Amino acid sequence: MPQQDSGNSTPLAEARDRYQQERQKRLRTDGMDQFVELKGDYSEYDRDPYADSDFTREPITEQTEVVIVGAGFAGMLTAVNLLKRGVTDFRIIDKAGDFGGTWYWNRYPGCMCDVESYTYLPLLEETGYMPTMKYAGAPEIFAHCQRIGEQFDLYPRALFQTEVATAEWDDSTSNWQVVTSRGDHISSRFLVTAGGILSKAKLPGIPGIETFAGKAFHTSRWDYNFTGGSPTETMDKLKDKRVGIIGTGATAVQVVPRLAETAKEVFVFQRTPSAVGERNNGPTDAEWYASLQPGWQAERIRNFTQAVTGKKPEQNLVADGWTEVMWEDTQSVAATPEQAEALEQSDFDTMEALRQRVARIVEDPETADKLMPWYGKHCKRVCFHDEYLPAFNKDNVHLVDTDGRGVESVTPTGLVVNGVEYPIDVLVFASGFEVTTDLNQRLGFDPVGRNGVAMSERWNDGAHTLHGVLAADFPNMLMISIVQAGFGTNFLHFLSESANHVSWVISRCIEDGITSIEATPEAEEAWHRTLIEEAMQIAGYSMSCTPGYYNSEQGQNPKARRNLTYTGSLLDYVGYLERWRDEEGFPGAKLNG
Ligand code: NDP
Repeated sequence: MPQQDSGNSTPLAEARDRYQQERQKRLRTDGMDQFVELKGDYSEYDRDPYADSDFTREPITEQTEVVIVGAGFAGMLTAVNLLKRGVTDFRIIDKAGDFGGTWYWNRYPGCMCDVESYTYLPLLEETGYMPTMKYAGAPEIFAHCQRIGEQFDLYPRALFQTEVATAEWDDSTSNWQVVTSRGDHISSRFLVTAGGILSKAKLPGIPGIETFAGKAFHTSRWDYNFTGGSPTETMDKLKDKRVGIIGTGATAVQVVPRLAETAKEVFVFQRTPSAVGERNNGPTDAEWYASLQPGWQAERIRNFTQAVTGKKPEQNLVADGWTEVMWEDTQSVAATPEQAEALEQSDFDTMEALRQRVARIVEDPETADKLMPWYGKHCKRVCFHDEYLPAFNKDNVHLVDTDGRGVESVTPTGLVVNGVEYPIDVLVFASGFEVTTDLNQRLGFDPVGRNGVAMSERWNDGAHTLHGVLAADFPNMLMISIVQAGFGTNFLHFLSESANHVSWVISRCIEDGITSIEATPEAEEAWHRTLIEEAMQIAGYSMSCTPGYYNSEQGQNPKARRNLTYTGSLLDYVGYLERWRDEEGFPGAKLNG
């Protein structure tokens, strides 16, 4: 995409033009620099509103086998897999006050997961838990994180409200020396970085943002003290408030209907509309759930990933909006011009159906027109929600479309678009998270590897890894992140596979008496070539897209050539890991001991 059209004006040709016009409006020269980090003047936005701010504890000094940084699903699943393999001596460190990661931080009203709970929630067979609904709400998912923490006895091993300050490899002892913000000194054979995927919130650097005099917060730090209510209760303190929300991504799609229920006025500031499909949630059929045979969850997870990466399983087990929209991979290079045209048509048909859904639901034609997504289906994450579009039929909800330019400026009393000020009392930033910035920036610390060389230095031209997991000069460091690794609609599929892989490497090193393992530079380069080959498959499509975090805002980042994700099917990425483990002898790794 885009392909040459043979005819004159067809809906497809019109759409192609419109896609390009909309893209052009949104291109900017500052790429990722348009956002500001939640530090310095903005550090208050990063404050944890949920944990006890008076919490104190004595620092600890200890030796352990593994330090896992991150107590979200990646860290928890690594811990569970280590336990299954007999490795019991580990520490989990997280700045949050509990397990959960994303599900600890995101408690905004309406927060839920639009990926089916039976494939998203991990360890359902092991814990015996039955999700209440096809799509689970955030409180239920957070509770499941706590359930895993309890059931696998992870709490005694966790250091919460604690950040890694420094982590340095000590060649003389073949250990990582980890120092934390609470003065802990932990010496550890292995370091697992299991955080930093969608954890670092970002704010748009709109001129005047610091001058806003009302209440402002990011969706991942929802202030219920101010709004009243809770994730499951009405936000009664918003009854007399005018609320502005910046952003219309997957988060805003869930928040807006809840704000619409309670706030006096809601102003939704839109730069690019999301494509919003049908969610069709419903309670779990307990009889069906009880009839599932052992091994069902792994099969269902795999089946779903097949269905949303164009691998078309014989039977579509999940059969929901995701599988309907993503059933066909329309972004990879086609074998023939005829196939390319068919794929472009298929992509257009899918998006056109989503545009027509807007027209059917939103009563005011002008508002409906502005809510229609004009880009390909792989350009931005598709959303699924049944109350978002109807919210715009309410008298108290106002769409402020910025025609792709974003909010112009912030004043002490409101937001300015097209020279018009919209006065508001509360400003909600649904502006997302850093996804493609340097890993060390997102981790919050800069690991120092062999010979005192930091990751930021070693990777000054971008990432160097084998499978996104092992890195040269960072012995015994194992990473779970999307940098040079897989990516998928069901994030938990990726995290589960990565946690399994990482724990396999650690337990094998312990069993085989290997004191250190790292990637060889040659293996890193070979893996990088694989990543480039895959990226080339979708490069044309991606270039035709509107900016967003999938394509680093179409910015000119010199490290982008290396800070890639594996853009093929997650199943193919998993295949690389499986074959590597099966080959024996850790191909492409340098071992000591
Ligand atoms: P996103 O990055 O998807 O969205 C950020 C929004 O802010 C976009 O609409 C963006 O517009 C807008 N924006 C940024 N700057 C400006 C500006 N200057 N003026 C106006 N608007 C601006 O963040 P989300 O938090 O919505 O979602 C992040 C990810 O989290 C999702 O993609 C998904 O992976 C995950 N998620 C998953 C959910 C689930 O149900 N499983 C639910 C929620 C989140 P533009 O598009 O033009 O850049």
